[in-house]
Amino acid sequence: MSIAENLIAITSELPQHVTLVAVSKTWPVDDIMQAYGTGHRVFGENKIQEMSEKQDAMPKDTQWHMIGHVQTNKVKLMASYVTLIHGVDSLKLLEEIDKQAKKNSRTIDCLLQMHIAAEDTKFGLDESELEALVNNNAFKNLKNVKVTGLMGMATFTNDENQIRKEFTQLKSIYDRFQVVSTENCAFKILSMGMSGDYKIAIECGSTMVRIGSSIFGRR
Ligand SMILES: *Cc1c(COP(=O)(O)O)cnc(C)c1O
Repeated sequence: MSIAENLIAITSELPQHVTLVAVSKTWPVDDIMQAYGTGHRVFGENKIQEMSEKQDAMPKDTQWHMIGHVQTNKVKLMASYVTLIHGVDSLKLLEEIDKQAKKNSRTIDCLLQMHIAAEDTKFGLDESELEALVNNNAFKNLKNVKVTGLMGMATFTNDENQIRKEFTQLKSIYDRFQVVSTENCAFKILSMGMSGDYKIAIECGSTMVRIGSSIFGRR
């Protein structure tokens, strides 16, 4: 099947409340244009430099999500155009995003990345760190960032029960933090699920899935 066919097949089976981020990392603009041609506009990249080059080359109504780990010194490269940053896991990073957003006279939406996997190589906050961050006055004073939800990655395993357990845990944290509703923090997006586990993620309450290889092929 072609990229366009894969994309249409996946989109047609997603529930209405779930947004698809087509993960185009490593794939050239020609391939991304095939996906764009179906009417799809939301793409995810994990390297800021690569995303910025593609952003330059693609039509301007394309929406770019940064799904990878963000280095503070590269925030400025995407601050003028990025739609959503999924992998935010520190106050320091939020402060830099706020600063660069302000320079561009805009507000940048961010998701806080939670650590839910058993592997300790993955980035992210635990629940007490999340609590401390959203209650931190330095965070509350930031005017040019908005935390709109959470993102997480399950353990890379074939054990469905393990994956389900981790997604369920993330959903329950997400639900508990629904009570937080401030100027720059109000949850409405739960980003979880990739090619291998997005169906489970949706069953567990995901509202945004990040799918790469099932659309573009193996990297
Ligand atoms: C690469 C990547 C994805 C997509 O992975 P696939 O298995 O190709 O669907 C999703 N989320 C993040 C954070 C990624 O880096």
